[in-house]
Amino acid sequence: MSGEYVVSGTILYGDEFEAREGYVVVSGPKIREVGFERCDSDIRGLICPAFVNAHTHLGDAIVKDPPFMPLVDLVAPPDGLKHRVLNAASPAEVAEGIRSSLGVMGRTGTCHCVDFRENGAAGARLLKRIAGPRATVLGRPAPGDTIESVLAEADGTGISSTRDLPPGAAEDIAEKTKKTGKIIGIHAGELNRDDIDTAIDIMPGFLVHMTHAAAKDMKRAADNGIPVVTCPRSNAITGAGLPPLKEMREAGATLALGTDNVMLNSPDMFREMEWADKLFLHDDEFVLRMATLNGAKIARLNKGSILPGKDADFLVFDLKSDTFKSSQNLLSTVVRRAGPDDIGYFIYEGKAWRNNYSRRS
Ligand SMILES: [Zn+2]
Repeated sequence: MSGEYVVSGTILYGDEFEAREGYVVVSGPKIREVGFERCDSDIRGLICPAFVNAHTHLGDAIVKDPPFMPLVDLVAPPDGLKHRVLNAASPAEVAEGIRSSLGVMGRTGTCHCVDFRENGAAGARLLKRIAGPRATVLGRPAPGDTIESVLAEADGTGISSTRDLPPGAAEDIAEKTKKTGKIIGIHAGELNRDDIDTAIDIMPGFLVHMTHAAAKDMKRAADNGIPVVTCPRSNAITGAGLPPLKEMREAGATLALGTDNVMLNSPDMFREMEWADKLFLHDDEFVLRMATLNGAKIARLNKGSILPGKDADFLVFDLKSDTFKSSQNLLSTVVRRAGPDDIGYFIYEGKAWRNNYSRRS
């Protein structure tokens, strides 16, 4: 269903996700109006922003659930398992992995992801072609590429770590990326603290991980307005350690959530939210913001909250589902307990899809 229509129920409204009874008017791909009178409509339920997954590597979906092994053996360029598998894979195999990952994200309520894409300009072009507006594509040069050729295809650059580059290279990439007005992200502090200072030195658009960040690192990121994307499940499976999320929040950093390599984790934000909330933060609203609005800010998107003028990308949870019965707080139930089966409708670019993926006629 497209054109103009009304969705009603309990809205997690605005940037504070305040639960209010009301309705949302969807017009084309946008939210045209939000009102707080009770009204009946065909689509009713709990209206919640769709998720923005702030850090993925969709390209490595070609191999899932390898044996547990140290982080360096898994993902470090150039010889980690991930890179050996990627180098051996055909573009068609990589494309199929990306397509299936986007399918999982669609079924689990994610409207957009911010992806670090390997394989240079060709890799960025491939992801752009398949994902279209569903992904912010941050590429990196492969042998034979220039940073300019990557930037011609991508929405920006995603650097693996300053540790993996010769001196001065990260600064050069950052400078050229910023000149085009595009986005630059960088992994830092995943293995240890050694690459954090040099990552912050380039003043990136955002940092990823900061698992081993000290209080002064978090303060420096926060003082410079650099958001941090954390990936707790990824850190757990790679043995990198547990990210200091409470300390990051206390430092005042803008925090977002990512699921990282599809090789290691399902790109399912319900799972990431539950981990972040129960293991670290005990702050449902903060975690929902990490999974929606803050990821959207990093990707410079007009998504992540229910407000007039925003993109109509939101979820309508089925409040009759067993999950929501006896809930004391609907937002808490979304973050701590809900899953894909509780989504009644996924409104994406203003079009309403049932959770079985059939388009509402
Ligand atoms: Zn990563």
